[in-house]
Amino acid sequence: MSEEKFYYQTEAAELLRMMINSVYSNKDIFLRELISNASDALDKRRIECLKDTELAENDNPEIRIEINPEAKTLSVSDNGIGMTRDEIIKYLGTIAKSGTREFLTAAKDDSAKGELIGQFGVGFYSVFMAAERVEVITRKLGGAETYKFTSEGEGSFTVEDAEQRSECGTTVTLFMRPVADDGGKDYLNEWTVRDIITKYSDFISWPIYFKDKIINSRKAIWQRPDSEITEEEYTEFYKHIARDWQAPLTHIRINAEGSTNFKGLLFVPSEPPYDMFMNPESGGISLYINRVFIMNDCKDLIPQYLRFIRGVIDSEDLPLNISREILQDEPIVRVIRRSTQRKIFTELRRLMENDREKYIKFWNGFGRVLKEGIIQDPENVKTLLGISLFRTTLNDEWTTIAEYESRMKPDQKGIYCLAGRGDVEALKASPKIEPFTSKGYEVLLMTDPVDEVILREADFILHEDSKDLLNIARDDVTPYSDDEKKANDDRLKELDAEFEPVRELAHEVFGDKLEGVKLVLAGSPACLRDAPGGMSLRMENLMRSAGQTPPTMKRTLELGAENPAVKRLVALAKNNDARAADMLRVLYGQAMILEGVLPDDPAGYVKCVDGLMSSALGEG
Ligand code: ADP
Repeated sequence: MSEEKFYYQTEAAELLRMMINSVYSNKDIFLRELISNASDALDKRRIECLKDTELAENDNPEIRIEINPEAKTLSVSDNGIGMTRDEIIKYLGTIAKSGTREFLTAAKDDSAKGELIGQFGVGFYSVFMAAERVEVITRKLGGAETYKFTSEGEGSFTVEDAEQRSECGTTVTLFMRPVADDGGKDYLNEWTVRDIITKYSDFISWPIYFKDKIINSRKAIWQRPDSEITEEEYTEFYKHIARDWQAPLTHIRINAEGSTNFKGLLFVPSEPPYDMFMNPESGGISLYINRVFIMNDCKDLIPQYLRFIRGVIDSEDLPLNISREILQDEPIVRVIRRSTQRKIFTELRRLMENDREKYIKFWNGFGRVLKEGIIQDPENVKTLLGISLFRTTLNDEWTTIAEYESRMKPDQKGIYCLAGRGDVEALKASPKIEPFTSKGYEVLLMTDPVDEVILREADFILHEDSKDLLNIARDDVTPYSDDEKKANDDRLKELDAEFEPVRELAHEVFGDKLEGVKLVLAGSPACLRDAPGGMSLRMENLMRSAGQTPPTMKRTLELGAENPAVKRLVALAKNNDARAADMLRVLYGQAMILEGVLPDDPAGYVKCVDGLMSSALGEG
């Protein structure tokens, strides 16, 4: 077939310009990417040959790096799996991943563009940071044709037939840009290239030839004792497997010996990947059997809510021909999964206890995912709650449940919690909190979307000997002792005698929309109380906006008997003053706003506020 021309998505040019112009301190990564791709291609070829015995085995697997300063080229070759014509177009012709546009928007006003680029992971496309033109010659394993891909990055690329390669595999040749005047690196210099390969790719398990010698030690880092490995080696290994640009937050070593033997080297990234919630199925553990790579993204080795963990698990007890399909039924895999999980919990707890600052960083990035486990994994609920951090009414710090418990008052019935919208300050302002804090109780503030579900299910997920998580949004959770309750009830009864006209008026104004209105002893004006076991208004709205039809919950509008506006309302209602109805509407609207949703009828609400203001302030 003759040369055919294709066009990149419209974002390509913009992305490229940004990559070249940003002070991207780490241009080296293009070489790391190419070596990683070559190593993956060799892994894939090996696995393909295992599956299909017709295919010739690779007697001499290798990655070869060559520089030619005269021609200004640098090339990386492998005799791995190669690519078909369609694969070239699909893999090399599509820049980056889905979400490029979002990424570009995010990067637009960010000074740390380089970091963003690294985090986003542009893969093969990163070659254009260093090269003005790239040529890829490739022949697929088992295929008869050889193709050539050529591109200058911006705009378009071409694919054409090429002279036959003797063996399958891929050669990527970069025609390098001139070395930048600002002291940029010369990637055509032998020592520069040597340095980069040793730094980034020493642990690659396939031989890397440079100047006709193998220059990587090829030692599986997870097999070496921890004491021998430098922090930098861990970091580079992590960057290789996670395709991350930043150093990891921490690493976890597992060395299990006994009935099941396996080793693990796991990492917690510093930042969540941009698609952590968009793509909950993605995972980050690679499986090795006796140092031989078997598969990436091995979901059965780790529960979904630990999907942010990256790393390697290597066991000698599994059969080499294991497939994804039978993995989950393999008892050894279940054992590995359990002990890996346990080890991760232990290490996270250790981090929480010994380096709170780092743990808070972890929590900010991954707490939301980890908490999914409280719902998904009943067996580990207590462990997970134990390593969860919460905001509190006590101060602006994060706290653990254990720390909360150590501060609990002796008469306290359980752990008081309130779930609400994403903003801690808004939650702190909730009128539901005041009765608790004014009696000196501390309330945990839960602002993640999953928290509400946790609280709804609390009775169900916690076992007998755990302290209850008490949702103070529920009617039956109060801070009062029996005596206090009685005294309050008596006082309320007195006040309530005057309240009947408000109740009647509310019925006229709201009809069936509300369960009713109720006077409570509080200084704050109004709040909405969910029915026991009912979901909050915000949750209901979230479900509705997700296209679901939640059951309609009737809530009670509570009015604070000690609030001046409410007192005024009682008087107005008694006198059949027309303004009373508007006041009720405004109080209801305020209660909705505090729940984090818009009033039912925003225009009507504003009109009522406006009318009341004019009447209160008079004219002129
Ligand atoms: P990633 O490696 O993160 O998937 P890249 O942009 O680096 O992203 O590469 C895209 C795809 O192109 C790879 O997943 C692989 O399928 C293919 N590819 C790249 N380099 C090679 C190679 N040397 N041999 C075979 N396939 C390759």
